[in-house]
Amino acid sequence: MAVWWIRRDLRLHDNPALAAALERGRSVVPLFILDPALLSSPDASPGRTAFLFAGLRTLDQDLRARGGRLVVRRGRPHHVLAQVVRETGAEVIVAQADVSPYARRRDARVAAHLPLQLVGGVTVLPPDRVRGPEGSPYRIFTPFRRAWEAAVATEHLAPIAPPSRLAVPETLATEEIPASDPGFEGFPPGEQAARKRLAAFAAGADAPIYRYAATRDRVDLDGTSRLSPYLRFGMVSAREVLAAAHRAMHDAPDVSACQSARVYIGELIWREFYAAILRHFPHVLEQEFRPALRGIRWNDDLDGLAAWQAGLTGFPIVDAAMRQLARTGWIPNRARMIVASFLVKDLLIDWRHGEQHFMRLLLDGDPAANTGGWQWTAGVGTDAAPYFRAFNPTLQGRRADPHGAYVRRWVPELARVPDRYIHEPWTMPSETQRAAGCRIGRDYPAPLVDHAAARVRAQARYRAARSVARP
Ligand code: FAD
Repeated sequence: MAVWWIRRDLRLHDNPALAAALERGRSVVPLFILDPALLSSPDASPGRTAFLFAGLRTLDQDLRARGGRLVVRRGRPHHVLAQVVRETGAEVIVAQADVSPYARRRDARVAAHLPLQLVGGVTVLPPDRVRGPEGSPYRIFTPFRRAWEAAVATEHLAPIAPPSRLAVPETLATEEIPASDPGFEGFPPGEQAARKRLAAFAAGADAPIYRYAATRDRVDLDGTSRLSPYLRFGMVSAREVLAAAHRAMHDAPDVSACQSARVYIGELIWREFYAAILRHFPHVLEQEFRPALRGIRWNDDLDGLAAWQAGLTGFPIVDAAMRQLARTGWIPNRARMIVASFLVKDLLIDWRHGEQHFMRLLLDGDPAANTGGWQWTAGVGTDAAPYFRAFNPTLQGRRADPHGAYVRRWVPELARVPDRYIHEPWTMPSETQRAAGCRIGRDYPAPLVDHAAARVRAQARYRAARSVARP
């Protein structure tokens, strides 16, 4: 008997933990633990938790279709597992290793008293596999990517088949999966939905992956895979996503399609990179990766933070993205960079406030990728963008949403604003404002800051932090 302790691997296909559990025992206990420390942590998110619970329901259905079922218990993991081992006589507990400091502490505590076997699977390669020539972890993406691609080329990526039948002991008590309000517009939960989405994105001669390089930065187009919430909970395996992208590269109809699939693979490697960074440098959850930028003097601007959160900054692209985030729990990468840069560089608000807000809302909220993305945009992280760079929200809006369709969708006050003013509505003559039914300062806010002045102010603060840090 083996316990398959499910954490971020809500799937039956290509699941190394499930496969290892099946190798060890004829019957398996698929166990999910409702861990109060995670469910009530400050980083918990009602939307993400609802997505998780809905995913557990679909996993239970998939298990039942194979003669099994999901066992759900509530409590501290080491207590629950000890109890389940006592009830079943299980000889081993198999789980997928994870990188967050909490997960590592939790697993060390369990392993101290119980037969816990950790296997890979959250990432394609284990986060501590790829190291520099002297065995030290990489700190910069490009050399990491090179080494990672060399290492993955020697890997066997064929997926592990799902079991056709599963024997789960019938007498084990289970809790109900808590009811959850679906807060995940556009993301049907579960493994089948994830696999369907992957196939729609990466399979066939006309697959969107072949246009990804051109469309991924256009927030008005559905140009990315939208697989992140599924990857977050392992409803699809990272290996299978990579294998599908490799196949697409191989079958590409022309050079630019092949290059586009390669760009997509680059993004998957960013995911691997940030997992490796968190594994080796756990302090990035709280602290800037670059010591020279740890002393930036941030503004204590609660009104600015509230306006940013509510999508009321007066910059249409920022407001559209923040409203989409609040409503759906997901926004495209380009939108994340724009709003993050605005909070940090234009409002000079500590990136940690933005990081926490994202964690409370994102369906894909993941400590490694989220801290990585925030630190990168704030210019304080690993491969930080130069610290003096600040996204210009008007230019970014024009590039990412050239006709204003995205802004009009999420900021209805601007629906009738003509194209030429859509990314800088404050420049509309008053007659045009009246005709568009959008008076600046009344129907839609005036811009919270002057971008050019804010950029200079941010540079000065960053420079000051660097000069203090320099011995
Ligand atoms: P696609 O463009 O289709 O990419 C495919 C997959 O690659 C994604 O699903 C994701 O798993 C991975 N990926 C893509 N870009 C990145 C990246 N820059 N870093 C790490 N992985 C990447 N991603 C998260 O999964 N969780 C987060 O909490 C998160 N927070 C972010 C915060 C900020 C400020 C920024 C700038 C980025 C953040 N990202 C995060 C990365 C990225 O924005 C999302 O992964 C991506 O937008 C998800 O949409 P998609 O699945 O359509 O991505």
